[in-house]
Amino acid sequence: MRDLNNRVALVTGASRGIGAGIAVALARAGADVAVNYHKSADASSTICREISGIGRKAFPIQANVSVAAEVRQMVSQVEAALGAIDILVNNAGISQPKKLEDITEADWDEIISANLKSVFLVTQAVVGGMRKRRWGRIINLSSVAAQTGGVVGPHYAASKAGILGLTHSLASLLAREGITVNAIAPALIETDMVTSNPKASPSLIPIGHFGSVQDVADAAIMLARNDYITGQTISVNGGWYMS
Ligand code: NDP
Repeated sequence: MRDLNNRVALVTGASRGIGAGIAVALARAGADVAVNYHKSADASSTICREISGIGRKAFPIQANVSVAAEVRQMVSQVEAALGAIDILVNNAGISQPKKLEDITEADWDEIISANLKSVFLVTQAVVGGMRKRRWGRIINLSSVAAQTGGVVGPHYAASKAGILGLTHSLASLLAREGITVNAIAPALIETDMVTSNPKASPSLIPIGHFGSVQDVADAAIMLARNDYITGQTISVNGGWYMS
């Protein structure tokens, strides 16, 4: 099995939930990891301590990934601390469960900016280095919402479907340059995002229970190790949507 020894990874939104699980899994696979967060500084330090305990370097980095200037600063600080970024996991996201009739223009802009624009901004800031070195892995967190509509709302579903279009475009553009770009579409993984949404129930899932962060992290590690899977969406959803 190909290892990820001494690769450098940046995981956005890695202070908790799925991002934290992927950050720790990458460290266990041999990578040094930059742990981006927006507000949860203490939680991010805890994840960094866990990574250091595994014997890899960890670097906590605050940035709102929907703001271009903060993204540029984040990437240059990570590269100064850990070296060039080989693996980018675009995980940061927000959910805002709302009915169609209650979604305001400001809600729409906030969700699209946090969930979709962020993926474009961070990828654009990181990809130049990957192109120079002709090696890179980009893994984008979409959602079952892109496939079925999900349980958050149309604004969230649209942001997550946009990630799939971006993934397909980037995968085609970068295929000859040693860079793979894939999406993971989870459903109902037991994190703050799911436990705070009253519409998220295990009864929606054919397997009959919520998924774990490790279920998603395993898929991310598989994608980081593989050099022939690109432009794909890996569903981790207990059978909710079957492709
Ligand atoms: P959580 O709400 O548990 O964690 C979200 C993470 O994103 C936090 O670390 C948060 O940082 C960070 N974040 C949010 N906004 C920003 C921002 N503007 N800049 C930087 N970081 C930010 O979510 P999950 O772990 O459940 O979800 C992770 C990803 O997976 C999301 O993209 C989500 O949409 C997607 N997903 C999750 C599913 C699930 O079942 N849980 C299903 C399908 C998709 P901080 O704590 O500092 O605010």
